[in-house]
Amino acid sequence: MVDELRGNPASPGAAAGPVVRLTPPPVLPEHWDAPAAPEAELAAATEALDAAVADLEKRAASVSGESKSIMDTQIMMAQDPSLRTGIADGVANGRPAAWAIRDAFGRHVAALEAIGGYLGERAADLIDIRDRAIAAALGLAQPGIPAVDGAFVLVGQDIAPADTVLLDPAKVLGIVTEKGGPTSHTAIVARALGIPAVVGCAGAAGLADGTRIAVDGTRGTVAVDPDDEYVRRIEAESASLKEKLAAHSGPGATADGHPVKLLLNVGSAGGAESDAAADAEGVGLFRTEFLFLDRTEAPTVEEQRAAYGEVLRGFGGRPVVIRTLDAGADKYIPFANTEDEPNPALGVRGYRVGVRNPGLLTAQLEAISLAAGDHDADVRVMAPMIATPAEAAAFRDLAREHGITKTGVMIEVPAAAIRARDILAEVDFVSIGTNDLSQYTYAADRMLGELGELLDPWQPALLALVATVAAAAKEAGKSAGICGEAASDPGLAPVFAGLGITSLSMSVSAVPAVRAALKDYTLEQCEILAGEVLRAPDVPSARKVVEEFSARSVD
Ligand code: PEP
Ligand code: MG
Repeated sequence: MVDELRGNPASPGAAAGPVVRLTPPPVLPEHWDAPAAPEAELAAATEALDAAVADLEKRAASVSGESKSIMDTQIMMAQDPSLRTGIADGVANGRPAAWAIRDAFGRHVAALEAIGGYLGERAADLIDIRDRAIAAALGLAQPGIPAVDGAFVLVGQDIAPADTVLLDPAKVLGIVTEKGGPTSHTAIVARALGIPAVVGCAGAAGLADGTRIAVDGTRGTVAVDPDDEYVRRIEAESASLKEKLAAHSGPGATADGHPVKLLLNVGSAGGAESDAAADAEGVGLFRTEFLFLDRTEAPTVEEQRAAYGEVLRGFGGRPVVIRTLDAGADKYIPFANTEDEPNPALGVRGYRVGVRNPGLLTAQLEAISLAAGDHDADVRVMAPMIATPAEAAAFRDLAREHGITKTGVMIEVPAAAIRARDILAEVDFVSIGTNDLSQYTYAADRMLGELGELLDPWQPALLALVATVAAAAKEAGKSAGICGEAASDPGLAPVFAGLGITSLSMSVSAVPAVRAALKDYTLEQCEILAGEVLRAPDVPSARKVVEEFSARSVD
């Protein structure tokens, strides 16, 4: 029996080799002696930060594409003048260089972590510069990949962008990290380099240098001390899956050609080029928050117009659904939200912000309309967190006033799902945000990892609400898509098709597996499967229905 650790599958493929651990970042003791010469200390701190930034710039100059844009963002964050002011304040208050650096970065890191989501994961980038600057200030070896001979599997807490960009796929057979989610830079870069990776792997801390491990980045497992037969098996499985995924391309459809559109979730202008080059039918969810987060006032109409335009340009005639600002709760935006709400997830968030602060919403709709005109793009808009048909109608009217004719809303609140028929009477389409719909259906904070079981997209009450929405859309002759994380689950794809969902929107990397899963069944089989899954009383039985159905279809 091989000992297996579990994490998140982050980059597909399988590989085995000895563990090489990253050099850990420096740890500072809590007590320090106030420096005798604060001026010299400030100069040392500044020099250490400058050295860390210069090193990053050197590394960034040797890479391109997505890796470069990750590092450029990191360099930009390191050049924030308020960091330098914070360091100077720390030294003035009696801290030596290394401690002043630690504390100044600490405040910025905490702010990003509080925002969560994509920006929360960028906190790791800031922590990396902090650690490099501290190591430089203390004259210690830089944290990161040690120089070793031969090929290995890299294991660490998280891998910093500065290290990931220099990964040599000929030497690094696989990557395992304790932290990080599917959108962390480790996952992004590992996928770009084709290195199998498992992130957020809880037991990785216990893996010692030299231990032989096998990484299965497709399933998200790490086997400790596997025998050769185990390694051969996961390599063969991974190769056959790769072959299967590569065999399909083009629009999403079931085996008998029933279309289910494969769309992308995009969240910044940064990856616009690679997103646009992907084999997908358009954008199902363009999250616009990236333009608003981490700043003190709203971007101007012109700034928004340019940023949206950057994404629209690449997609040519393909449809792009732009979601208006979803401020609040896990996406707290200081100038849009109030700080003193006792329950921000149940407070003024999403569309509700636009009602109370109409200037924000109208400026955004104006910018979207202008950007659509600039690029002759097929743009639709949708509002987040709609709860009633009246809200849907008001949003539609406002969008039309700005010349945007195709309007939709997100179904993220159980009230909206239950009354989907009335909501669909007001708008052209709906898109189900299963991340929030799970949170509100199961009264489980989506940010709380320990409630993950309730937030599982296979939960029967969530699937029942999806079924209600899909049936209402079918009756109205309109489209109902899914743009939450559930859309990237290949096991659920045929179930959603069978329920009548018309599009699935996900990150680029999830598309091939979902496309292949749809191709496994005819529409009739999807419908039978969906009916059986809806009758399952809990998550394990729902999953079992699909596994058994798939085994039956193969026989
Ligand atoms: C969702 O809630 O499922 C969704 C897609 O929106 P977000 O994750 O941005 O809240
Ligand atoms: Mg949401």
